[in-house]
Amino acid sequence: MIFTDKYTLEYDPRKDAHRVHSTEAPLCPSCGFLMSGYDNRRRKAIDSTGAVYWLLVRRLYCPKCKTHHTELPRSLVPFKQYEAAVIEGAGSPQSSCPAEGSTIRRWKRK
Ligand SMILES: [Zn+2]
Repeated sequence: MIFTDKYTLEYDPRKDAHRVHSTEAPLCPSCGFLMSGYDNRRRKAIDSTGAVYWLLVRRLYCPKCKTHHTELPRSLVPFKQYEAAVIEGAGSPQSSCPAEGSTIRRWKRK
């Protein structure tokens, strides 16, 4: 898993998802080698209003390590559906987090 900070989103109506266009060179987190695009996959995301949207994230291939890595925009957290800002703000008094109470309690345990 690698993160990109510099990216744009473009809606793809055929996939019903926003394609993530990174402007950063994707470097392998293990060896630093420049990776190449392999394919895309759909990734669910939920924003602070509880609205669900889908992203098309790149899967990259490192020819040196012979492994695949997914490129996520920095706004997301690996293996979590809610945006990073939603998870960080959850449970604070001024937060209106759309997640269920049990989900917020699970986030805070870690
Ligand atoms: Zn590598």
